[in-house]
Amino acid sequence: MALNEEYIRQIITETIKRLDLGDGGSAAALQFVPSNRNGWLFDDPNDAIAAAKAAQEILKKETLEKRGALIAAMRNAALENAKYLAALAHEDTGYGSVVQKIAKNQLAAIKTPGIEDLHPVAFSGDLGLTLVEMAPYGVIGAITPSTNPTATVINNSISMIAAGNAVVFNPHPVAKRASQEAIRILNEAVVSAGGPTGLMTTPKEPTLDSGKFIMEHPDIMLLVVTGGEAVVSVAMKSGKKCIAAGPGNPPVIVDETAEIIRSAKDIVDGASYDNNVLCVSEKEVFAVDAVFDRLTNEMLGQGCFKVTGEDINKIVAAVFTQKDGIYMVNRKYVGRDATYILDESGVSYIGKPRLVIAEVDKNHPFVQIEMLMPVLGMVRVYSFDEALEEAFKAEHGNRHSAIIHSTNIHNMSRAAEKMDTTIFVKNGPSYSGLGFNGEGHATLTIATPTGEGLTSAKSFTRSRRCVVHGDFRIV
Ligand code: NAD
Repeated sequence: MALNEEYIRQIITETIKRLDLGDGGSAAALQFVPSNRNGWLFDDPNDAIAAAKAAQEILKKETLEKRGALIAAMRNAALENAKYLAALAHEDTGYGSVVQKIAKNQLAAIKTPGIEDLHPVAFSGDLGLTLVEMAPYGVIGAITPSTNPTATVINNSISMIAAGNAVVFNPHPVAKRASQEAIRILNEAVVSAGGPTGLMTTPKEPTLDSGKFIMEHPDIMLLVVTGGEAVVSVAMKSGKKCIAAGPGNPPVIVDETAEIIRSAKDIVDGASYDNNVLCVSEKEVFAVDAVFDRLTNEMLGQGCFKVTGEDINKIVAAVFTQKDGIYMVNRKYVGRDATYILDESGVSYIGKPRLVIAEVDKNHPFVQIEMLMPVLGMVRVYSFDEALEEAFKAEHGNRHSAIIHSTNIHNMSRAAEKMDTTIFVKNGPSYSGLGFNGEGHATLTIATPTGEGLTSAKSFTRSRRCVVHGDFRIV
């Protein structure tokens, strides 16, 4: 497995230790408030919003210590159910790998910051004291994707509730059952730690219409959408404050100074992770001619299968539909195993490859389209400048993620500056930019077009200034 399991186990153990708040503050020590255990799933989205609003009113009156205890209980429940939720997500969508989905759930449970992310700012001086606090919005409408369904629910719930909000989820219909189970489990954890039911609610049948209803409802104070171009564009036109985590098409640049063995491993680990459904995953490679063949050979040694000629066309015919010269991804192949894609395309292969690679032209759909499947276009370029220029174009101005493999500090800096992406990884797999085997907190909602970046509790707060005037000379 690409992700170091020992490392994950270690951070889980350490986090559980860290989350032990001691006798006075532990979740179990808090008073249990009897609550309607079914108050999170509603036929009518209007009722889901009303219940979340009522729950948020209760949360608002609670202490921060209690909010912290609710978050601790949610983390523990998410960890305990990480396997179950991963299996459900896999069953619902057919995407990726159960093992790697478990790691994503664990990552969200452990590395999503809680109340410690909220830092009030104080100014004090001759004229008194001014405090800038981070206050909740109220009820958030969150639209979640099919690609990381349960990890996104865990991550969004922890961040949004740590910030003092309630949230109404409208999950992707394809991942309805897994997402609703995550919402149920987190609600039960909150209730068992003495919190109100309904801090996370959802309609029984999430649809585009229920999503639209939530987006337009006057009691929804903030929209948080994680998904593709269409939903981001709808949400941004809603007239509401919106935090949008949109699509990406992360390019990889490999220059002549790169450590090729390590680069090959990192690229294959990142691009094959959960069958490439992560929005940060390597989606195409621009490698300079001087190292291109060596890189390709090393990638073959890392479990890739290289397709050429007619076999490339067979895969294109299977995984895309074309309308007016525009390529659209055939969702049947999103997140599927490389072997499934090869089989269905009628391409023969040997072994059990985890990633398909193909040397193609820079304009090929394997390069230009966000495919979300383990098929990686590789483009041969003749200079670092050309690699950077083409990588910039292939990213399509999403300002999402990009990766470079190089030991030339000048090239690394130039690429970071030109790409100007929310995540820029140097000499590592893409997922290290998510805090997966990398430093920094984790999120599954990377707010790209609206600029909040890797969201955390503080992203879901309003700034509120409270002033104590202290000039006693004026009487
Ligand atoms: P999707 O856009 O098909 O669906 C995402 C959500 O939006 C779902 O809940 C869906 O029901 C809803 N939706 C879609 N069209 C809508 C519309 N017109 N009106 C209202 N709601 C609508 O995306 P997906 O296939 O589930 O996820 C993959 C996409 O999401 C990729 O483009 C990926 O890059 C992106 N993504 C981005 C991030 C990030 O953090 N930036 C994280 C995960 C996924």
